[in-house]
Amino acid sequence: MISASAVVILVQACLVISVTPEINVVYPRPMKGDSIAHIARVDSNFIFGSVEPPDARLFINHHPVPLYENGAFLAFLPVDWDGRCYDLQAIHDVDVARLDLPFDAYPPAEPPVDPGLSFPRLLELTGGVARTDPDGAYYVFPAPGTVALSVDWRRGYYRLPLADCRAVWISGRFVSDAGPAATLKPPVLWRGSVEPAGKWVKITLPVHRKVLFRAWESTDPDRIILELYNIISHIDRIDYAPETEPVREVTWDQPADGVVRIEVSLSTPCWGYKTVWSEGALTLMVRKPPALDHGVGGLVIALDPGHGGDDFGAIGPTGLTEKEANLRAALKLAQLLRRKGAKVVLTRSDDSPVGLVERIGIAEEAGADLLISLHHNALPDGVNPFGDIGTGSYYYRPQSRILTQSIQKELVKRLRFYDEGVYYNNLALVRPTAMPAVLIEAAYIMRPDHEMRMLQAGYYDDLARAVYNGLCRWIKQAGSS
Ligand SMILES: [Zn+2]
Repeated sequence: MISASAVVILVQACLVISVTPEINVVYPRPMKGDSIAHIARVDSNFIFGSVEPPDARLFINHHPVPLYENGAFLAFLPVDWDGRCYDLQAIHDVDVARLDLPFDAYPPAEPPVDPGLSFPRLLELTGGVARTDPDGAYYVFPAPGTVALSVDWRRGYYRLPLADCRAVWISGRFVSDAGPAATLKPPVLWRGSVEPAGKWVKITLPVHRKVLFRAWESTDPDRIILELYNIISHIDRIDYAPETEPVREVTWDQPADGVVRIEVSLSTPCWGYKTVWSEGALTLMVRKPPALDHGVGGLVIALDPGHGGDDFGAIGPTGLTEKEANLRAALKLAQLLRRKGAKVVLTRSDDSPVGLVERIGIAEEAGADLLISLHHNALPDGVNPFGDIGTGSYYYRPQSRILTQSIQKELVKRLRFYDEGVYYNNLALVRPTAMPAVLIEAAYIMRPDHEMRMLQAGYYDDLARAVYNGLCRWIKQAGSS
């Protein structure tokens, strides 16, 4: 409690003492190793950070920029490519603080030097991803040790024909070049077998050499399709062990020269699958759906707080880091799920750095039934941050779509940010096929109003409760179908 006279003295002190403002710019700013900030060559861009005290007035390149109650600011201004400098001025009473922030455009990437190779040539692939074009979409994920013939090179990428007029391009980073070769004899696939293996049903296809292949799933009817390239089918036999549910039937076809297509029809919607190469065989593992009659109880749920360690993720105007917010959200959700009887596996439970592949490995190793990755969003240069942005959820597999919609709906209801809807997106953390996977971008940490919400403890309770409710609704639906 403060006496009346003390209040008077405090008020007078405030009037007399003027505080020199302090300007902190979070973005743009120089990255590690750079002397100045670099941005994309755009006409207008955002700049954000905070000013102390919050009742100061801020001008950026002479434009007045309002401060939020906690001193945060966000402006979307024309980029001055002649001056290449942001001039920030904060005024508090008679005190003025100035900050000059020079910037430049990212230097254009040097095109790789054409090595002048002769084609065709034999390659051993070390993994990675093959695209539809050197700048194109991900299409094939070659297993390390896959042998393929390349017929062309462009901008650091080797062209690999898929035997039926299609081709993919793989970066030289994922290639061990064995030199020129006229041909590559295709291996033969001559039988298959179907047998249960714990939580899985195993479909084994003996092949003596790793080839390029794709696997995808399709609904209505529920099935998994495996397409192998530069291979010949002599399949004369498929052996079925007893009890192979949910695998109903495995059939094959040769839709084009050198292409073998295996179709696995399922008696239930596909919960998950994975492909494993071993010595002399490609095995397609089909996941048996878990029991859903106790809600989340009994399910193994992997929670993945995005970023960590030196990878801060996005940063808010007053300095809240995405890695910190994601971890808070994951720990809250873990607590709630455990209380409801789920077994929760966290890909990180502190600030440790964990790689993307490692995160997926943790979820798969734990036999997770579901994977939920938690993030907070930011925008690329040039996008107006005052547009319609809010909560968005991402999926990759068709089986994850309805789960994603269910979680998104609850998030929007509880967090009340703009509803961006759901996205099909080829992101590392939703690409795993062993279990349904969802990635949540709950809010835009760069937006002062969103960051302010994220600084309140109740935000993480709301987020956790929304994800839990969305999960429960989907489980109920999936369990009754
Ligand atoms: Zn993120």
